[in-house]
Amino acid sequence: AAGRTVHPDDTIIKVGDVNIGSGTFTVIAGPCSVETREQITMVAKSVKKSGAVILRGGAFKPRTSPYAFQGLGKEGLDYLESAKEAVHIPIISEVMNQTQIPLFENVDIIQIGARNMQNFDLLKEVGKLKKPILLKRGLCNTVEEFLMSAEYIMASGNENVILCERGIRTFETATRNTLDLGAVALLKEKTHLPILVDPSHAVGIRSLVPPLAKAALAVGADGIMIEVHNNPAKALCDGAQSLDLDQFDNLMGEIKKRVALE
Ligand code: PEP
Ligand code: MN
Repeated sequence: AAGRTVHPDDTIIKVGDVNIGSGTFTVIAGPCSVETREQITMVAKSVKKSGAVILRGGAFKPRTSPYAFQGLGKEGLDYLESAKEAVHIPIISEVMNQTQIPLFENVDIIQIGARNMQNFDLLKEVGKLKKPILLKRGLCNTVEEFLMSAEYIMASGNENVILCERGIRTFETATRNTLDLGAVALLKEKTHLPILVDPSHAVGIRSLVPPLAKAALAVGADGIMIEVHNNPAKALCDGAQSLDLDQFDNLMGEIKKRVALE
């Protein structure tokens, strides 16, 4: 179970050499979407050099509009896996439904997106796997509902759950979402599961990603997931919130001054 009362010690999730939730700060970085083999490989090399330890890249994209880029699907996963091999870095990608699960065999962490946080059938299916699941908080879900969704995965047999606060809908529209840092502090008390913050989707504005990343560190998050693109102006998805390679490197420099990286 996810609660501290039954399991007081922090859960550490092992992904290759990376120990998420071990008191160090884990940085996941990469583009919103995998676009080409060259793009994902060059971003992988660069973010690893800057200090990221896990590469993100979406292949199945839950877009608001059906006419927007939907991701490369299986081909995207192939490119992501080839970057994993070339650069020696674990990978994370989002699964959108049960039928896609077999395609994720070589993906190190399976991401459940905000829009699927309460897709209970999907949660039960990933609960049958052994590999780590990163569960994002739903757009309009309470902390209690978030923890219950983690519970679904754990009750099905998979205790390797990483939580991710990615901003919630509020009356405020000046930022894409409202980053709920209070929830991060609360979750650190309530659960032994690691909790990451995704400032990119939370704020939606590139210049505000570094301050919120540092806020996540200050509030006690176990790490962050950041969108990074080699050419944000040309990104097929979420360019406005993506850092370029230099901006990410600068952010990592500031983080390294403050904390030991995992
Ligand atoms: C993502 O991380 O690619 C994503 C779609 O985020 P969210 O599910 O938080 O909107
Ligand atoms: Mn995105």
